[in-house]
Amino acid sequence: MTGPANPGWVGARRLLRRLRDIMAGPGTAQARLDLIASLIARELVAEVCSIYVRRAGDVLELFATEGLRPDAVHNTRLLVGEGLVGFVAAQAMPVALADAQAHPLFAFRPETGEERYSSLMGVPVLRGGHVLGVLVIQNRTQRSYTDEEVETLETTAMVLAEMIAGSNIMSGDEARFDAVPEALPQRLEGLPLSPGLTLGTALVQSRRVTIERMLSDDPEIEEQRVRKALDALTGQLDAALDRPEFSETGEHRDVLETFRMFAEDRGWLRRINEAIRTGLSAEAAVQRVQDETRARLGQVSDAYLRERVLDFEELANRLLRQLVESEQDGVAAIPEDAVLIARSLGPGELLNYEPGNLKAVILEDGSVNAHATIVARALGVPLVGRLDGLLSRVETGDEVLVDAENGVVYLRPGDEVRANFEMAMAARSARLEVYRGLRDEPPETRDGTHVGLLLNAGLLADMNHLEDTAAEGVGLYRTEIPFMVRATYPDVAAQTDFYARVLDEAEGRPVVFRTLDIGGDKVLPYLQSSSEDNPAMGWRASRIALDRPAMLRHQLRALITASAGRDLSVMFPMIAQVAEFDAAKRLLDLEIERVAKRGDPVPRSIRAGVMLEVPALALQLENLLLRTDFLSIGSNDLVQFLFASDRGNPRLEGRYDVLAPAVLNFLKNIADTCGDADTELTVCGEMAGDPVSAMALLGLGYRRLSMSPANIGPVKAMVRSIAIGNVVDYLNVPLQSPVPSLRPHLRAFAQDHGIEV
Ligand code: PEP
Ligand code: MG
Repeated sequence: MTGPANPGWVGARRLLRRLRDIMAGPGTAQARLDLIASLIARELVAEVCSIYVRRAGDVLELFATEGLRPDAVHNTRLLVGEGLVGFVAAQAMPVALADAQAHPLFAFRPETGEERYSSLMGVPVLRGGHVLGVLVIQNRTQRSYTDEEVETLETTAMVLAEMIAGSNIMSGDEARFDAVPEALPQRLEGLPLSPGLTLGTALVQSRRVTIERMLSDDPEIEEQRVRKALDALTGQLDAALDRPEFSETGEHRDVLETFRMFAEDRGWLRRINEAIRTGLSAEAAVQRVQDETRARLGQVSDAYLRERVLDFEELANRLLRQLVESEQDGVAAIPEDAVLIARSLGPGELLNYEPGNLKAVILEDGSVNAHATIVARALGVPLVGRLDGLLSRVETGDEVLVDAENGVVYLRPGDEVRANFEMAMAARSARLEVYRGLRDEPPETRDGTHVGLLLNAGLLADMNHLEDTAAEGVGLYRTEIPFMVRATYPDVAAQTDFYARVLDEAEGRPVVFRTLDIGGDKVLPYLQSSSEDNPAMGWRASRIALDRPAMLRHQLRALITASAGRDLSVMFPMIAQVAEFDAAKRLLDLEIERVAKRGDPVPRSIRAGVMLEVPALALQLENLLLRTDFLSIGSNDLVQFLFASDRGNPRLEGRYDVLAPAVLNFLKNIADTCGDADTELTVCGEMAGDPVSAMALLGLGYRRLSMSPANIGPVKAMVRSIAIGNVVDYLNVPLQSPVPSLRPHLRAFAQDHGIEV
């Protein structure tokens, strides 16, 4: 790496040195802020330098200025989002404008006297991803600020952030970024991500490494330090990959391997080195790049990008610890009933804790397909995510109850809540015991009807549940996860190997493979995608597959090869028209021909089916059923489209029920038509795993239900306690009812008839 040749960096380093002297010098925080404002104005040759600090209520208050009227200090206030200064805070992005007053966002404040200044450059004062304030310079003439000048002001803002956070320039109750945890009991609701019920002691993951030395005069040495720390870090990851939990192939290993690749990302390293050349120490440079990434990308909704932010966040944390605490290594000792609490977790972080002692993890962020979720499930650690405001409400040492079945967390519970929770834990153990006892009992109703109970799976690790639930097979294998956790496209050989392993684990039980359901929020790193207004109704699943047939053909080829000599069932998702199924089926036929022509072994039998998720397809059943071997209802998507109600929108949660008469009528027509055509019919959406809904499905004529492993026991208990004839009779009348949901009626029915739901 090259040294300090650039004159801009020399200037930046001088500014930082003087800044350090002021910060280490005497005087009140206010006096030092005043000096800093003058220093920055002088060094950056600006007439004005102003420091705005964010107060409670999202107010930005002018705390110090060189150049604006002194009496505006502590009087001029803007809301975050108001004017250019507010814009910088809201977006956590710098702005640099030669003609600021011409900008539509410019908000004129007469008390400041700023009408005399044309150009403006503002940068956010960032710390730990939060915007603490805004640092602004202004010039009288129309000045075009260079990228280098923006960089310099950003670096200065970072040093300023440490000072603002470290001094008590605001009164205690406004210390916005170190919110005082409330000591009262609290109940938080989030998203259940890895199942289990447990109680333990909070261990708040300490993310923030204290950086003692922000500045350095020798970039060469700092760059070397970063390189050395990165080498140590990749060494640690290699050691983690050698751990027994990761010895076998599977998505959790892919996750770590991909993460390790990111550690060698050149763009990231380049940005760190650039920050070093502006005069920061290695650790301050890492911190700065991390803060910027977090502030700019933290708000994105794109699932893939959010994952990358988490990856880099974990990397940055590890690198920081490596630099600051040097040689910190191995597994951290934790209390033996630890509930780990963090904003988010990178894929490798769970491995840093003693496995037996980690009882649960709860997160402010987190999502179903997040890499950390996959690792938590592989390790069998209960996980609840999306707990809003978690970190400001809990402290290390607090008692925590985690219900990862329902996504509920209790902080500092009172005696009564704890006692109830312990009862729920005991009841759950007893229930699990009962379900284990049902394992070898047939899934047959009291009036002698067999009900096929199948598993939904998406991870190799899920296949173990075939054994412990005694499920008949896999009714839905979601194939997208192995594609999503890798940084590169898995070629035909890798896919073949993977599907063969799934079939090996199934030990002869049938598996229905669903072809890739990507697009929308399931983004593949190596497939160009553009953002869509309605991703669920956008370019996804079979729509992509038919437009990019090579990808589907590769997948089908791999499935055919992996199933050589065995049975293969393939199902196409999001089919809206018969012609789409025909096109997909043609590709399957082509691939079968190809394999046969080469003289390679083919599957013993091949069945092609359709997932019914788009309502329009139900109006084409007559033609569809002539062509397809089986049909599976994806009720999750189907219901969102029937009601035009986004399944992921929390505001619509609970508004429409799958047990609405409209849905049940819709499903009944499908069941009747499939019954007449003698076509195999399954439900594989979430409703199949809910005992009350499953009971209704039996009443409508459904006999095959595919669900997550944990639901097999409860649904089997329902099946074994029901006489189907009764529910068929019962449903005849209320299907015409105008009520929004039949759930309460069905519950009452179950209770009256001794059906376990
Ligand atoms: C469904 O839509 O019901 C379904 C099973 O598919 P997914 O949940 O994967 O979209
Ligand atoms: Mg679906």
